[in-house]
Amino acid sequence: MDNSHLQSEIRALKKERNAVILAHNYQRPEVQDVADYLGDSYGLSREAAKTDADVIVFCGVDFMAETAKILNPEKTVLIPAVEALCPMAMLLTSDDIVKARKQYPGAEVVLYINTHASEKALCDCVCTSGNAVKVVNAMKSDTIIFGPDLNLAHYVRKRTGKRIVPVPEKGVCPTHHQITLKDVEQARKKHPDAKLVVHPEVPAEVQDVADHIASTEGIIEYCKKSPGKEFIIGTEKGILYRMHKEIPGKKFYPASDMAICPTMKTITLEKVLSSLKNMQNRVEVPQDTAIKARKSIERMLEIT
Ligand code: SF4
Repeated sequence: MDNSHLQSEIRALKKERNAVILAHNYQRPEVQDVADYLGDSYGLSREAAKTDADVIVFCGVDFMAETAKILNPEKTVLIPAVEALCPMAMLLTSDDIVKARKQYPGAEVVLYINTHASEKALCDCVCTSGNAVKVVNAMKSDTIIFGPDLNLAHYVRKRTGKRIVPVPEKGVCPTHHQITLKDVEQARKKHPDAKLVVHPEVPAEVQDVADHIASTEGIIEYCKKSPGKEFIIGTEKGILYRMHKEIPGKKFYPASDMAICPTMKTITLEKVLSSLKNMQNRVEVPQDTAIKARKSIERMLEIT
């Protein structure tokens, strides 16, 4: 399909509005192609913190756009699809955190960036998959209340030796959690020379057999620097588009063809254009929540 007309319109409007387009690595290829910055939640939150643009168009999911707004309260943040609601972020409630704090007095609360502002406002520090270990190690308490991803909790527990209490008890990313041990075994049989590189949101048993575990940016970095020529990638398939473009000469295979996040794919070029044209789907975060959540995000930025 020829998207060049839509893409030209978006680029022209972007200039007119002094807007910047931030897109997550899992976005559709044609959306990635109009982005000023591509990255993971952490990289995009850093870009959001330093941009000079008046308008940020966030091609990602709700919690990411909220983070951009929290870091840029004076800027207009647009999310092209209001239905881009991360199912994992929805699993964690403020009540879960309040209860866990009562049950584990003195334990600090570290929340994955994949949470809503209302929950970030209640935690001690935010983390991303790329810096979760560093953040948890920097906390004073030996018991850490950690949410909402059970698989990332496993990854952190193994590398910090701290007692990790997951909130909620069984939160997972449905897209990553469906990548099974059987999938990676089959992929390894098909591609015996390939290294298995996975995201820490995949199930614990898949992490345990991987050659390398990293955030999406970390996966790209590893594959760039590795002397290996073939890689089985255990994360959302959208990242492969960027990898093929940026790392020519190497081969990438998805660990599972089912690893597609439907929420990320709700953003289309038509929706990007429409939100820019009409300046619609503005992201707002109540001020008191934003102030508290910002402290938790800034603490992460300081630590890392
Ligand atoms: S990939 Fe998982 S964590 Fe990321 S937006 Fe989709 S459901 Fe949420």
